[in-house]
Amino acid sequence: MSLRPIHTISRIRLETDRFSEKGLRLGFVPTMGALHRGHEALIGRAGLECDRVAVSIFVNPLQFSPEEDLRSYPRNLENDLQVCASLGVDLVFAPSPEEMYPARQLAYVDVESLTEHLCGPFRPGHFRGVATVVLKLFNIIRPARAYFGEKDYQQLVVIRKVIADLNLTVEIVPVATVRESDGLACSSRNAYLDPERRSKAPLLHRALEAARDEIAAGLKNPVAAREAGLKLLAGEAEIEVEYLQIVDIATLQPVNRVTRPVLIAGAVRIGSTRLIDNIVYP
Ligand code: AMP
Repeated sequence: MSLRPIHTISRIRLETDRFSEKGLRLGFVPTMGALHRGHEALIGRAGLECDRVAVSIFVNPLQFSPEEDLRSYPRNLENDLQVCASLGVDLVFAPSPEEMYPARQLAYVDVESLTEHLCGPFRPGHFRGVATVVLKLFNIIRPARAYFGEKDYQQLVVIRKVIADLNLTVEIVPVATVRESDGLACSSRNAYLDPERRSKAPLLHRALEAARDEIAAGLKNPVAAREAGLKLLAGEAEIEVEYLQIVDIATLQPVNRVTRPVLIAGAVRIGSTRLIDNIVYP
């Protein structure tokens, strides 16, 4: 049976109400579409743990700044619907920007401190846009559980803080990063890479691994560990490093010494394509 997308908030609420009336636990996977194996892992996990699964496909204008790739972001609803159908998804919510933002948005969710480092400074307003749309989607779908990828680790930490600080009851389930065989994290943006740039893209993960290996070998100085990672990226004309940082896993603040669990995270631009990745240590 083909899966028909639901475009309106009123209709998706009707459908999710039916589930809750029957006492069915709803799992929710928010996405921007162009589904790949990373998204499939989230959907698969939701299917295992919940009675019903809803996926949203919405390229959220609020989380893109004017110079970013909102217009060119890959969109392929037909293919996404087939992927969702093959994974047994029950509901696909694919609203238009006008449905989600019928009037100028004046209320936002701002998460302080956790957004000060890593992607925050490079994407002003991004996490505000993410936190705001995720809260809207939670209020529309009202899931018992929601699934987020560790690939976007800062996003995961930010959403968890929204849940805690605003007393939401949805349970957040993190899912490990799914990678290509050469280590590159699966991402909708990988589709932008031509073969030459695609061949360079796994260097980001290798740089993070190099930093991790130094720490695993006993190095406590994050500056030296970071240098070990950056060395792998130096001399690559195509690669521009935005950041490679070692931060506390919970506060996302830079550490002076690596004596507790850390997130080793990086972002690069390869041509005009921005890629992010991270490793949790230990
Ligand atoms: P996006 O469509 O890029 O906004 O991603 C939707 C969800 O899929 C987010 O929770 C992402 O963290 C997650 N995700 C994206 N890529 C991956 C990946 N390679 N492995 C695991 N989760 C991912």
